[in-house]
Amino acid sequence: MFNEQFDGINPAAIAFCATPTDVQRCVGFARDHGITVAARSGGHSYGGYSLSSGLVIDVTRMAGITVGSGSTAVVGAGAHLIDVYDTLGNAGVLLPGGSCPTVGIAGLTLGGGIGVFDRLFGLTCDNLRSVEMVLADGSLVTASPGANPDLFWACQGGGGGNFGIVTSFEFGVHPIPPDISLFTLDFPWTAAQEVLGAWQHWITTIPDALWSNCQLLASGSGFNARVAGVFAGDTGALSTALAPLLSAVPAAPTYRFVGPESYLNAMFIEAGCEGQSVGECHLPTQTPDGTLSRSAFAAKSTFVVDPLSSAGLGAVVNAVTSSQQVAPGVGAAFLFDSYGGSINAVAPSATAFVHRNALAGIQMTANWGSGSEPSSSASWLAQGASDVAPYTSGAYQNYIDPTLSDWQRAYYGANLARLVKVKASVDPDDFFHFAQSIPTTLR
Ligand SMILES: Cc1cc2nc3c(=O)[nH]c(=O)nc-3n(C[C@H](O)[C@H](O)[C@H](O)COP(=O)(O)OP(=O)(O)OC[C@H]3O[C@@H](n4cnc5c(N)ncnc54)[C@H](O)[C@@H]3O)c2cc1C
Repeated sequence: MFNEQFDGINPAAIAFCATPTDVQRCVGFARDHGITVAARSGGHSYGGYSLSSGLVIDVTRMAGITVGSGSTAVVGAGAHLIDVYDTLGNAGVLLPGGSCPTVGIAGLTLGGGIGVFDRLFGLTCDNLRSVEMVLADGSLVTASPGANPDLFWACQGGGGGNFGIVTSFEFGVHPIPPDISLFTLDFPWTAAQEVLGAWQHWITTIPDALWSNCQLLASGSGFNARVAGVFAGDTGALSTALAPLLSAVPAAPTYRFVGPESYLNAMFIEAGCEGQSVGECHLPTQTPDGTLSRSAFAAKSTFVVDPLSSAGLGAVVNAVTSSQQVAPGVGAAFLFDSYGGSINAVAPSATAFVHRNALAGIQMTANWGSGSEPSSSASWLAQGASDVAPYTSGAYQNYIDPTLSDWQRAYYGANLARLVKVKASVDPDDFFHFAQSIPTTLR
């Protein structure tokens, strides 16, 4: 697992499945012997839900990526994001997805998939054309708009591990835009509230081709208010788009970068792997030359629908500032991802991903380096989430949060009832079960 927090969970066995038939055999064996199972792709579940004390059904040996004709690609359920970006990128196409290079395509897609090209091309799950998956009865089925359409709908944001074990995905892919530019602006912490306030209005005025986030960061070495992003266009147009943001903040940036990049370099930079090879841009457990490190962190998430009032902005900034008193030395962050564009052009009920009216997603993270979570860090995260709760709603199912009480409605909102129906029809015995799996009846 990516997160060291879950190192104490020891499965009875891990089956490294190389074919859909292997997965079918594992499911049949586990059912016959009453063994609990968990599917695992990239192993990045925030709740450790791809581990189980029973059988882990690992799909990483099904990681082939084939670019087809007609703007589609077939991706094995065990592929890591950096391999997807690299293979597709070398064929001149892209699939919108997240930044972390070692996240698995399966968990990312099934729970939505937020990334730097989503405002332009939609969530990862919006680009899904079909899935091949093994159900609880051991059958191998295809789900698409024309075959098992309810199951397909549920796979577009209903969350990993709920309905069956996906063995491969077919996606629509997009030609790489001719120009890509990146930017980073760091502002003095004294202007943090104004930066977030200006950013949340600015993102409603910019082209869909411009994705950005606003990062309020704290650590033992200080505080930073950063706006960064990726633009599918040239640096001249990017500078023009940034001008209103810069003039709305009453402090000059302490650091300003605007520059052109190739698509693949941009993805490596976003992944934190600038200058590395594809093999190096993995964990050592994933590739022999992998150089990346695992992490120990906890996170909570929510959404901003209407722009934050000044009280809401103040609550956010105070929460970040307080981190170093409550949990000194912990890496604390409130990360705002811009929504809008193609993400919000899809109706909330059209896919299982319900959060289509968000202005921004918020992720609150606490990173303590290694080992188990210090209680001070957990207290800070809980307090921060509670301080901003009056101004926010919902939670992102891919930032799955074991401490969230009303998780069913927070993740799925008005789509929960339909998801429960799909679950009851494909997995009536609740074989695919974990602490926050979709139940077979509404509670
Ligand atoms: C460092 C980091 C960065 C991240 N960045 C982003 C980001 O930029 N954008 C974003 O949207 N998300 C991001 N995420 C969240 C990520 O999308 C989720 O954690 C996702 O669930 C991880 O998928 P995985 O396959 O790597 O994880 P896993 O732990 O393998 O799986 C996650 C869930 O899906 C289930 N699952 C796994 N494989 C299958 C399968 N084949 N069939 C059915 N169910 C399966 C598991 O049982 C588990 O419940 C990030 C996570 C981390 C840790």
